[in-house]
Amino acid sequence: MKTGYNGLFIPGPTNIPNEIVQAMTLRLEDMRAPDFGAFTLALLEDLKKVFKTTNGQPMIFPASGTGGWESALTNTLSPGDKILCSAFGQFSHLWADMCARLGFEVVRLDVEWGKGVPVEDYARILAEDTGHTIKAVLACHNETATGVTSDIAGVRKALDDAGHPAMLFVDGVSSLASIDFRMDEWGVDVMVSGSQKGFMLPTGLAIICVSQKALEAHKASSYPRCFFSWEDMQNSFTTGYFPYTPATTLLRGLRCSLDMLFAEGLDNVFARHNHLATGVRKAVDAWGLKLCAQGPQWHSDTVSAIMVPEGHDATKVIARAYERYNTSLGSGLSQVAGKVFRIGHLGWLNEIMILQAIATAEMAMGDSGIPVELGSGVAAAQAHFMNSNFAS
Ligand SMILES: *Cc1c(COP(=O)(O)O)cnc(C)c1O
Repeated sequence: MKTGYNGLFIPGPTNIPNEIVQAMTLRLEDMRAPDFGAFTLALLEDLKKVFKTTNGQPMIFPASGTGGWESALTNTLSPGDKILCSAFGQFSHLWADMCARLGFEVVRLDVEWGKGVPVEDYARILAEDTGHTIKAVLACHNETATGVTSDIAGVRKALDDAGHPAMLFVDGVSSLASIDFRMDEWGVDVMVSGSQKGFMLPTGLAIICVSQKALEAHKASSYPRCFFSWEDMQNSFTTGYFPYTPATTLLRGLRCSLDMLFAEGLDNVFARHNHLATGVRKAVDAWGLKLCAQGPQWHSDTVSAIMVPEGHDATKVIARAYERYNTSLGSGLSQVAGKVFRIGHLGWLNEIMILQAIATAEMAMGDSGIPVELGSGVAAAQAHFMNSNFAS
């Protein structure tokens, strides 16, 4: 029998604060009640602060992040439209794959896993596309499979430098509300996120934000859509009521999540994530191991993918951590299966929880025959935490 909490260090779903659990412990409610619309409208208004937009329009679908991807594509484009995208991890790959499966023409740049959006290649391709045949550019802000954060401002600049009118769609499922993101400043047309990562909620909401330009493109787009249709959802952001049954329980949780994020302050939330991530990176250095992310410019503050030495199997480390130490580490997906384990460090976490993840990883690696000195990573993270001015 296992006692105590399971240590949840996967990069989503993340740990749910007690306040949010309590906010969701309520009877089911009437989603057509006279006061429900005002509740939704306040949520949508507050989401704008998280997206850092004044002109953008948030929308909430009962779905996961994947539904948000589909909503972005099918509401703004027409069959056969050309999309520029890049794949450098399982999530960026899956979004590119979705574009192909939905019948769009895909210009797909495959990049070595461990690097991010190839901004220079985007710049060249956009500059060469003088006929403006590319209608949308996709960028994964934080590739969760490899722990790589990309330069979205750089993608914006590439579009601007080329004078290219294509829309910019960003996957922010594992970055929003954890890593700085600026919808308006970076000229993002659709930002896609979900409930179970930075928002510290269960899975079940696709949370997106669309620019006025994307809403214009929507009017001209002829792609068939139904469940994810923006025209049906339009009612929710004018009156606060949904075209179908909303996930009311999750919306109550989202209300609490937003209140907690604003109480901590978004900038403090970002600083905390950076602080905790730095602790993990210090531990990885102390172990003499390498991150999958191939340089500091790619380091993610929400997830670290840690490479085990050649000849060892990361899957064993993850299984051992779970079975023996009741702690969940993130697995290696697809190309990096068996090569990496991941520590998710996003959401409702503090220094001591991070030390648990590091200590467990040390024991599980030791048990699996990987030569790391017990306590070395913990000590490195402790030293970082003790010596920093960070106030939690
Ligand atoms: C988790 C994640 C997704 C997928 O979201 P689901 O909620 O599982 O559909 C997409 N992109 C990134 C970067 C993610 O981390």
